[in-house]
Amino acid sequence: MGLNTENIIECKSCGLFVNKQEASKKYLIKCPRCNTKLRAYIDHSYDSLFYAISAIMLFVLMNIFPLIKLSINNKDLQATLYDTVFILLEQNLFFVALIVFFTIIIAPLFNSIIIIVAFIQKHTKVKFFTKTFLHDSFHFTKTWGFIEVFIISIIVTYIKLVGMVSSTRFDLGFYIMLFYIFCFYMSNKKFEGKSVFGE
Ligand SMILES: [Zn+2]
Repeated sequence: MGLNTENIIECKSCGLFVNKQEASKKYLIKCPRCNTKLRAYIDHSYDSLFYAISAIMLFVLMNIFPLIKLSINNKDLQATLYDTVFILLEQNLFFVALIVFFTIIIAPLFNSIIIIVAFIQKHTKVKFFTKTFLHDSFHFTKTWGFIEVFIISIIVTYIKLVGMVSSTRFDLGFYIMLFYIFCFYMSNKKFEGKSVFGE
Protein backbone atom coordinates (compact mmCIF):
# COMPACT_ATOMS: atom_id res chain seq x y z
CA MET A 1 0.00 0.00 0.00
CA GLY A 2 1.54 3.29 -1.14
CA LEU A 3 1.40 6.38 1.02
CA ASN A 4 -0.17 9.47 -0.41
CA THR A 5 2.20 12.26 0.60
CA GLU A 6 -0.54 14.83 -0.07
CA ASN A 7 -2.29 13.61 3.07
CA ILE A 8 0.74 13.82 5.30
CA ILE A 9 2.22 16.70 7.24
CA GLU A 10 5.44 16.74 9.20
CA CYS A 11 5.28 17.93 12.81
CA LYS A 12 7.51 20.98 13.01
CA SER A 13 8.55 20.19 16.60
CA CYS A 14 9.33 16.49 16.66
CA GLY A 15 9.36 15.45 13.02
CA LEU A 16 6.59 12.88 13.28
CA PHE A 17 4.49 12.37 10.16
CA VAL A 18 0.83 12.99 10.92
CA ASN A 19 -2.19 12.10 8.79
CA LYS A 20 -3.86 15.29 7.57
CA GLN A 21 -7.21 13.59 7.11
CA GLU A 22 -7.72 13.52 10.86
CA ALA A 23 -7.76 17.32 10.89
CA SER A 24 -10.71 19.13 12.39
CA LYS A 25 -13.01 21.40 10.37
CA LYS A 26 -10.64 24.28 10.93
CA TYR A 27 -7.77 22.18 9.53
CA LEU A 28 -6.06 21.83 12.89
CA ILE A 29 -4.36 18.62 14.01
CA LYS A 30 -2.56 17.85 17.24
CA CYS A 31 0.65 15.89 16.92
CA PRO A 32 -0.02 12.61 18.80
CA ARG A 33 3.57 12.51 20.13
CA CYS A 34 4.27 16.08 21.32
CA ASN A 35 0.83 17.75 21.17
CA THR A 36 2.02 20.57 18.89
CA LYS A 37 -0.87 22.11 16.94
CA LEU A 38 -0.41 21.77 13.20
CA ARG A 39 -2.22 23.44 10.32
CA ALA A 40 -3.26 21.03 7.61
CA TYR A 41 -4.07 23.65 4.99
CA ILE A 42 -3.37 27.32 4.80
CA ASP A 43 -6.85 28.69 4.45
CA HIS A 44 -6.69 31.80 2.27
CA SER A 45 -10.35 31.81 1.33
CA TYR A 46 -11.18 34.83 3.52
CA ASP A 47 -8.51 36.95 1.78
CA SER A 48 -9.85 35.75 -1.52
CA LEU A 49 -13.41 36.69 -0.51
CA PHE A 50 -12.43 40.22 0.52
CA TYR A 51 -10.49 40.77 -2.69
CA ALA A 52 -13.44 39.45 -4.72
CA ILE A 53 -15.87 41.84 -2.98
CA SER A 54 -13.46 44.76 -3.44
CA ALA A 55 -13.05 43.79 -7.10
CA ILE A 56 -16.81 43.97 -7.71
CA MET A 57 -17.09 47.37 -6.00
CA LEU A 58 -14.11 48.73 -7.95
CA PHE A 59 -15.63 47.31 -11.12
CA VAL A 60 -18.80 49.35 -10.56
CA LEU A 61 -16.74 52.50 -9.80
CA MET A 62 -14.54 51.90 -12.82
CA ASN A 63 -17.59 51.99 -15.08
CA ILE A 64 -18.89 55.23 -13.61
CA PHE A 65 -15.70 57.22 -14.18
CA PRO A 66 -14.19 57.73 -17.64
CA LEU A 67 -11.18 55.66 -18.60
CA ILE A 68 -9.74 58.20 -20.99
CA LYS A 69 -10.29 61.81 -21.87
CA LEU A 70 -9.47 63.60 -25.07
CA SER A 71 -10.37 66.86 -26.71
CA ILE A 72 -11.19 67.31 -30.36
CA ASN A 73 -11.84 70.81 -31.69
CA ASN A 74 -11.91 72.14 -28.15
CA LYS A 75 -14.62 69.64 -27.25
CA ASP A 76 -13.88 67.34 -24.34
CA LEU A 77 -14.69 63.70 -24.94
CA GLN A 78 -14.70 61.01 -22.29
CA ALA A 79 -14.93 57.26 -22.63
CA THR A 80 -15.79 54.70 -19.98
CA LEU A 81 -15.09 51.00 -20.28
CA TYR A 82 -18.56 50.42 -21.73
CA ASP A 83 -18.02 53.24 -24.22
CA THR A 84 -14.90 51.54 -25.57
CA VAL A 85 -17.06 48.52 -26.43
CA PHE A 86 -19.53 50.81 -28.22
CA ILE A 87 -16.69 52.63 -29.99
CA LEU A 88 -15.56 49.25 -31.35
CA LEU A 89 -19.14 48.44 -32.38
CA GLU A 90 -19.48 51.76 -34.18
CA GLN A 91 -16.30 50.98 -36.10
CA ASN A 92 -18.02 47.75 -37.21
CA LEU A 93 -15.57 45.67 -35.25
CA PHE A 94 -18.37 43.43 -34.02
CA PHE A 95 -16.25 40.37 -33.28
CA VAL A 96 -13.60 42.36 -31.42
CA ALA A 97 -16.32 44.15 -29.47
CA LEU A 98 -17.82 40.78 -28.49
CA ILE A 99 -14.48 39.38 -27.28
CA VAL A 100 -13.69 42.58 -25.41
CA PHE A 101 -17.15 42.61 -23.81
CA PHE A 102 -16.74 39.00 -22.69
CA THR A 103 -13.14 39.18 -21.44
CA ILE A 104 -13.22 42.54 -19.70
CA ILE A 105 -16.79 42.58 -18.38
CA ILE A 106 -18.53 39.20 -18.26
CA ALA A 107 -15.72 36.77 -17.36
CA PRO A 108 -14.05 38.80 -14.57
CA LEU A 109 -17.39 39.75 -13.04
CA PHE A 110 -18.57 36.13 -12.99
CA ASN A 111 -15.21 35.04 -11.63
CA SER A 112 -15.63 37.31 -8.58
CA ILE A 113 -19.25 36.21 -8.14
CA ILE A 114 -18.22 32.52 -8.26
CA ILE A 115 -15.59 33.09 -5.56
CA ILE A 116 -18.22 34.73 -3.34
CA VAL A 117 -20.79 31.98 -4.02
CA ALA A 118 -18.18 29.26 -3.36
CA PHE A 119 -17.40 30.94 -0.06
CA ILE A 120 -21.10 31.16 0.91
CA GLN A 121 -21.61 27.48 0.04
CA LYS A 122 -18.59 26.46 2.06
CA HIS A 123 -19.62 28.26 5.22
CA THR A 124 -23.40 27.91 5.12
CA LYS A 125 -25.87 25.21 4.19
CA VAL A 126 -27.06 27.18 1.17
CA LYS A 127 -26.28 25.26 -2.01
CA PHE A 128 -26.89 27.17 -5.25
CA PHE A 129 -24.63 25.12 -7.51
CA THR A 130 -22.75 21.83 -7.51
CA LYS A 131 -19.04 21.89 -6.66
CA THR A 132 -18.22 20.62 -10.14
CA PHE A 133 -20.12 23.47 -11.78
CA LEU A 134 -18.40 26.07 -9.57
CA HIS A 135 -15.02 24.49 -10.13
CA ASP A 136 -15.39 24.43 -13.91
CA SER A 137 -16.78 27.94 -14.20
CA PHE A 138 -14.09 29.28 -11.85
CA HIS A 139 -11.30 27.93 -14.04
CA PHE A 140 -13.06 28.99 -17.23
CA THR A 141 -13.63 32.60 -16.12
CA LYS A 142 -10.13 32.75 -14.61
CA THR A 143 -8.54 31.77 -17.90
CA TRP A 144 -10.64 34.24 -19.87
CA GLY A 145 -10.54 36.97 -17.27
CA PHE A 146 -6.75 37.28 -17.31
CA ILE A 147 -6.78 38.16 -20.98
CA GLU A 148 -8.31 41.50 -19.98
CA VAL A 149 -4.99 43.01 -19.01
CA PHE A 150 -3.69 42.21 -22.46
CA ILE A 151 -6.79 43.41 -24.29
CA ILE A 152 -7.11 46.65 -22.35
CA SER A 153 -3.57 47.59 -23.30
CA ILE A 154 -4.50 46.92 -26.92
CA ILE A 155 -7.61 49.11 -26.67
CA VAL A 156 -5.66 51.94 -25.10
CA THR A 157 -3.02 51.72 -27.80
CA TYR A 158 -5.75 51.45 -30.40
CA ILE A 159 -7.61 54.50 -29.21
CA LYS A 160 -4.39 56.48 -28.87
CA LEU A 161 -3.42 55.69 -32.46
CA VAL A 162 -6.84 55.97 -34.11
CA GLY A 163 -7.77 59.03 -32.13
CA MET A 164 -4.85 60.93 -33.69
CA VAL A 165 -5.25 63.24 -30.77
CA SER A 166 -2.33 64.33 -28.68
CA SER A 167 -4.62 65.37 -25.84
CA THR A 168 -5.63 61.77 -25.11
CA ARG A 169 -4.95 61.04 -21.48
CA PHE A 170 -5.95 58.59 -18.83
CA ASP A 171 -8.73 59.60 -16.51
CA LEU A 172 -9.83 58.48 -13.04
CA GLY A 173 -11.43 55.29 -14.35
CA PHE A 174 -8.05 54.09 -15.60
CA TYR A 175 -6.45 54.35 -12.16
CA ILE A 176 -9.45 52.64 -10.57
CA MET A 177 -8.97 49.92 -13.18
CA LEU A 178 -5.40 49.35 -11.97
CA PHE A 179 -6.71 48.76 -8.42
CA TYR A 180 -9.46 46.60 -9.84
CA ILE A 181 -7.00 44.39 -11.75
CA PHE A 182 -4.91 44.06 -8.58
CA CYS A 183 -7.94 42.91 -6.51
CA PHE A 184 -9.10 40.60 -9.29
CA TYR A 185 -5.64 39.06 -9.54
CA MET A 186 -5.27 38.68 -5.76
CA SER A 187 -8.72 37.11 -5.30
CA ASN A 188 -7.70 34.42 -7.79
CA LYS A 189 -4.23 33.97 -6.37
CA LYS A 190 -5.49 33.61 -2.80
CA PHE A 191 -8.35 31.34 -3.77
CA GLU A 192 -7.81 27.85 -2.38
CA GLY A 193 -9.64 25.38 -4.58
CA LYS A 194 -8.53 22.63 -2.21
CA SER A 195 -10.44 23.89 0.78
CA VAL A 196 -13.48 25.04 -1.18
CA PHE A 197 -14.02 22.44 -3.87
CA GLY A 198 -12.32 19.62 -1.98
CA GLU A 199 -10.04 18.93 -4.94
ZN1 LIG B 1 5.26 16.33 17.26
